[in-house]
Amino acid sequence: MPNDSSSAADLLPILGGPAGADGGSCGSSAAVLPTVSRRLPPWLRQNLGAGGGHGETAGLIAELDLETVCSSAKCPNRLECWSAGTATFMILGNVCTRPCGFCSVPKGKTEALEADEPERVAEAARRLGLGHVVITSVTRDDRPGKNCLMSLPICSIRASTS
Ligand code: SF4
Repeated sequence: MPNDSSSAADLLPILGGPAGADGGSCGSSAAVLPTVSRRLPPWLRQNLGAGGGHGETAGLIAELDLETVCSSAKCPNRLECWSAGTATFMILGNVCTRPCGFCSVPKGKTEALEADEPERVAEAARRLGLGHVVITSVTRDDRPGKNCLMSLPICSIRASTS
């Protein structure tokens, strides 16, 4: 590692920047540091509009006005999962009462509960033909009885598939 007395010109050859004709430092105090590309590599970028059944899953979720943790938490696997016709439903609204810094789910003032949400989740599960259904929810500290509310879509799914 260079010591603290190294100048930017000293570092340029290490960083792959311009060098003088003799391969050494150009000796100019006005040397320009190399530009570092901030573009993401192509394999890290996915077009959510492409790929199999992604649009159909997205359309069904929109039609039934459902929330998913896939979208709300900005999951990077969404193209893959939705193209395969699966998603993780998120119930009790799209706003969480916990301000966890690592999570992208919106936080703040919670929304009113929707009485028909369990039936809509059950319909989505039925129309997607899911063999198992993953349901999560935002934290509702304003609703201490959340555990009871979590059971409602499960009952609806069981009723619609039995
Ligand atoms: S189902 Fe799970 S892994 Fe797949 S996109 Fe949704 S949250 Fe991500």
